Amino acid sequence: MKIICIGWNYKPHLKELNGPLPEVPLVFLKPSTCIVHNDEEIVIPKGITNVQYECELALVFGKGGKDIPEKDALSYVSHIAVFNDVTARDMQNEYRKRGDAWSLAKGMDTFGPISDYVPADGIDLSNLHLTLKVNGEIRQDGNTSDMIFSPAKLISYVSKYMTIEEGDIMATGTPEGVGEIVPGDIVELEIENHCKLRNRVV
Ligand code: MG
Repeated sequence: MKIICIGWNYKPHLKELNGPLPEVPLVFLKPSTCIVHNDEEIVIPKGITNVQYECELALVFGKGGKDIPEKDALSYVSHIAVFNDVTARDMQNEYRKRGDAWSLAKGMDTFGPISDYVPADGIDLSNLHLTLKVNGEIRQDGNTSDMIFSPAKLISYVSKYMTIEEGDIMATGTPEGVGEIVPGDIVELEIENHCKLRNRVV
């Protein structure tokens, strides 16, 4: 199973991290060993500074495919979930400066909390309200209507080059408002009316 992640998919988030407007989606992977579930802990390794949350809509694939046309793409999505693309931002910024890959900064154990899966049937993916709270205070408040590339476009684009397999997850990018979490924080993510996720940071 792989976690396919999309970077820079909301315009205001581009602004806050000084990223360029993408012509095609930015794609990277997180390892399956990132995953933790509701009520499990996000563990910050010793010496890692400025760890940040990113609240994202995750698509879960009920069947695999290659070269999936945009018009059929959503039929491959069986479930949705809310996902936290936890990132060691200082380390990522070092890598960005050097033009190096971010894999380690995004791929540490427990850096991929995900909620229970919810059947995607009948859910309009183009109008989902995402929120993230730290210790009860709202930090991210976005809507999937602000995406640069829609879920169907992302699936079609990625599957041109990379086979999607049953059980794979695609995290579709984060809206603005990313920020730091520290040990003791409680992080709560929500897709309104659908998914909830809560994790303590240690
Ligand atoms: Mg992200």
